[in-house]
Amino acid sequence: MRSVTILGATGSVGQSTIDLIARDPDAYRVEALTGGRNIAQLAADARRLKARLTVTAHEEAREELAARLAGTGIEVAAGEAAIREAAARPADWTMSAIVGFAGLAPGLEVLRRGGTLALANKETLVAAGSLVMETARRHGATLLPVDSEHSAIFQALRGEDPSSVERVIITASGGAFRDWPLERLPEASPEQAATHPNWAMGQRITIDSASMFNKALEMIEAKEFFGLAPAQIEVLIHRESLVHALVGHADGGILAHIGPPDMRHAIGYALSWPARAPLPVERLDLAAIGQLSFAAPDAARYPALALAHRVMEAGGAAGAVFNAAKEAALDSFLAGNIRFTDMAEIVARVLDRFLSTEGRQIAILDLDTLIEEDRRARAWAMEAVAEGSARTGG
Ligand code: NAD
Ligand code: MG
Repeated sequence: MRSVTILGATGSVGQSTIDLIARDPDAYRVEALTGGRNIAQLAADARRLKARLTVTAHEEAREELAARLAGTGIEVAAGEAAIREAAARPADWTMSAIVGFAGLAPGLEVLRRGGTLALANKETLVAAGSLVMETARRHGATLLPVDSEHSAIFQALRGEDPSSVERVIITASGGAFRDWPLERLPEASPEQAATHPNWAMGQRITIDSASMFNKALEMIEAKEFFGLAPAQIEVLIHRESLVHALVGHADGGILAHIGPPDMRHAIGYALSWPARAPLPVERLDLAAIGQLSFAAPDAARYPALALAHRVMEAGGAAGAVFNAAKEAALDSFLAGNIRFTDMAEIVARVLDRFLSTEGRQIAILDLDTLIEEDRRARAWAMEAVAEGSARTGG
């Protein structure tokens, strides 16, 4: 029986992970589940899976969680530190599915105990790539990609000599606005941005798919995880979301990974790795699908992609700054304070400000430094939001 912990258990990836684990109750023992404000879901899953420990990120929700689990013997805790402590407890396999920078510190705890970390939280590698890879190496931890594109690359690389890799191509659906006229993008609402043509995901990553900030994060994630040079990473628009990534080798051959747009494939692959277990996902009928299409992304529609290249070239804390500015800009868009297209402008301004003052850095930064960079970049993004609304009188 393997022990598992799910960080971010109440979210989209967390629930897909629970779906797989719950299908095979004799194979898994649940050490800990963590969540946010959806206490009813967290408590129900903790009861159903007989978790040993359940943690909410919010102190004020502790009482409700304890009340819902009264008499079960399941331990209850609350707050940021409690989530890190849950991550630090021994478990054979841990899913990192908290959204945003908040997923970094708990993930590092898992690596420090030499655990196996299935990484859905892409912000971990974007904000702290060198620190994360170095921590995993030093403690003999195992890092498995769960982002579908990175799982696809990982699978296409299996048994290959990494030095034969010339390039990796990450695919993108193009998001909610791929067919909108460019001039309409400024009026796009959060509700419109939060609909994805092919995938069902959390609200934030779905909006990031419409702006392609998600793809920008994934480019950086691929660079860090697979140790690639920025010029080796390409993005293709692929409307069908069936080919998740392609790896081009030195002999001109390209290995593509094809699968249904269902996160349970990538999660399940990481759960049974290095074996391949049968999974309850759709079997594709390629004859019925008929065609797969590919196109180059339009730089004017997706300015986030060029920003990702600047971040990859700069290295150091640029990823943490980029991610923090993006998270703050997304918060402002969700609050109705800025337009959809303002997000890329704000992130570009923060990045300009960072690069003009800090220049290029290559050192491995520690967590405290990255937390400080994250805070400052969020503050700079909020300054840029305020300046923007002062200019437009909005
Ligand atoms: P989600 O919003 O559906 O769920 C997020 C989870 O994190 C919830 O359990 C929530 O309670 C918890 N959480 C939020 N803020 C927190 C905080 N400050 N501290 C502790 N816990 C917190 O998100 P999701 O779509 O499941 O995505 C999770 C991560 O996986 C993200 O990094 C996302 O980019 C990545 N990812 C998601 C998908 C997908 O299909 N949804 C695909 C690839 C990668
Ligand atoms: Mg992805």
